[in-house]
Amino acid sequence: MAGGFDKQQMKTLQGITKNVHTMRHHCQVDGCEEAAINSHLLQRNGILNNIAENNHLIEARPTDFFKWNAIDCPIEFRQVGINQAISLSVFCDKHDTELFKKIEQGNLDFGDYETQLLLSYRVVCAEIVKKEQNIEITKRIQRANTLNFPAEMLNTELKGYQLGLRDLNEYRKLIESELNAPTSKFHFRRYSYSKIAVAASATFSYEVDAGTSRGIEKSFEGKVWDTGFIHVIPTGTSLEIVVGYHEDHTNDYLVRYIDSWANLDDVALKMQLTDLFAARIEGWVMSPSLFKSLSNGAKDKFMRYFSDNAANYNMLQRPDFSLFDK
Ligand SMILES: [Zn+2]
Repeated sequence: MAGGFDKQQMKTLQGITKNVHTMRHHCQVDGCEEAAINSHLLQRNGILNNIAENNHLIEARPTDFFKWNAIDCPIEFRQVGINQAISLSVFCDKHDTELFKKIEQGNLDFGDYETQLLLSYRVVCAEIVKKEQNIEITKRIQRANTLNFPAEMLNTELKGYQLGLRDLNEYRKLIESELNAPTSKFHFRRYSYSKIAVAASATFSYEVDAGTSRGIEKSFEGKVWDTGFIHVIPTGTSLEIVVGYHEDHTNDYLVRYIDSWANLDDVALKMQLTDLFAARIEGWVMSPSLFKSLSNGAKDKFMRYFSDNAANYNMLQRPDFSLFDK
């Protein structure tokens, strides 16, 4: 949206966002009424600890009001304590412990199917919570008298979140049934590289028709968008990439994208990570010293690439630079 907000409108927006983000959720497990606790998308011990320094990480995430306002810095890099890093209230204490026991212990086997499913299950449930928050924020913006955004824009936004939520709920069911009775319908690849101090866990839609009438029709017809799952996991010595899809919800481009994580040299891996963080997923962390080493030129390019892609669904576009260039 062109232009900016006045002070009062900014305050209203900040209030809405803060209230929704601090709302108490119940646990995402079907039928569980317990309150959700804050927990990490990627475990602290054995993963986030591998890149934290003095118990801190740098979190990169889209600025809350980026979509609503033409601002210069669409991404915030914030230093956060390790307890706050990529965490969200998703499950109650009991389910958080029980469901993920297998991946909360050290020495994960990233080639193990159940481990790959559990990593993906946690992030799908977390993205459900984020979508629900975005829906609530949008509804409150619609109701706020002082915020006169174009009604059509808000309706489109809301519809997009609702369709996204429907898809995530479908993937949640698919993963649950796969955890209960594996049929190997999810296909994951695992790639191992030299360590880069970054971490992320996310889903991403991979519809080449997204943003076109064909992609939108598919969604309105009740068809789930093809989706990838990606986990970028720093160990003590390596960077593990676990990336996959469900065989009933995929396309040649998605499979090719997943295969494109194979056999990368250092330069290509850094460009691939740049593309992932700027254009495909929201929210990731890096070590404070890696953040300090980023050049201002690379950060500026990254911001520009992010802004351009926020309004552009071209899945096949790739950056010609790396955020991690020295
Ligand atoms: Zn629960």
